[in-house]
Amino acid sequence: MTSPNPTMPLAETWFRRQTFDDGVTLLYEPHVDPFARCNIWHVRGRDRDLIIDTGLGVRSLREAAWDLLGHSVTAVLTHAHFDHIGGAHEFADRVGHAAEKGELEAPAGFRGLTAAALGETLVENLTAAGYDVPAQFLTALPAAGYDVDTYEVRGAPLTRTVNDGDVIDLGDRAFQVLHLPGHSPGSIGLFEATTSTLFSGDAIYDGPLLSELPGSSRTDYVTTLERLLRLDVDVIHAGHEPSFGQKRLSQIANDYLARFRS
Ligand SMILES: [Zn+2]
Repeated sequence: MTSPNPTMPLAETWFRRQTFDDGVTLLYEPHVDPFARCNIWHVRGRDRDLIIDTGLGVRSLREAAWDLLGHSVTAVLTHAHFDHIGGAHEFADRVGHAAEKGELEAPAGFRGLTAAALGETLVENLTAAGYDVPAQFLTALPAAGYDVDTYEVRGAPLTRTVNDGDVIDLGDRAFQVLHLPGHSPGSIGLFEATTSTLFSGDAIYDGPLLSELPGSSRTDYVTTLERLLRLDVDVIHAGHEPSFGQKRLSQIANDYLARFRS
């Protein structure tokens, strides 16, 4: 174990926000390297709010988002990778796919705030996919004296499992669950037909897609990307990187399909 990096400054603000149309707010962790910085989406509903993914869990998301959150909140975990589930334990209502259940209950997969913690093989795979993986994933400390080597992900068992076609109802708006395996076995997206909006998790985002992680399946990923190409969608709010539209979705998906099939 090494001691905390003494040169790393203390973060003043851990989460930042960006507001979108249709009652959607992005929360993100600016002091986290882009590769491990997941997009956390808040969606306002009449009867319930949604939080889609929850970040690393090194600072309280619930406290940071208190003014946004309605009295009832459902946390949807698009999949169980550590950068998405760290804050899940802060929400009583936790929804995800059955194939991610075990990892959410007792996180045992890859996780860490340093390249060393992820391990050589995984870093090699990420580098081959196009990521520049830094030695340290944080550029500031979430709390004074925080030791990045003690990072752990707290278990947050799903309180409800969903599958393809299920609907998450917020009272005045409804999100259809799309099972989008490939990046991980139980990756899901949420599609709102009335606004043609897709919350895609890590099934598709505007960056190097990952099909070489433990639990990934290239065969499933091909099916998922083909399905996404057929979806009539205007806005994609993804698990990482900026949001994009259908044209960019087609480019990203076709680019990867060409590579996966070659
Ligand atoms: Zn992921």
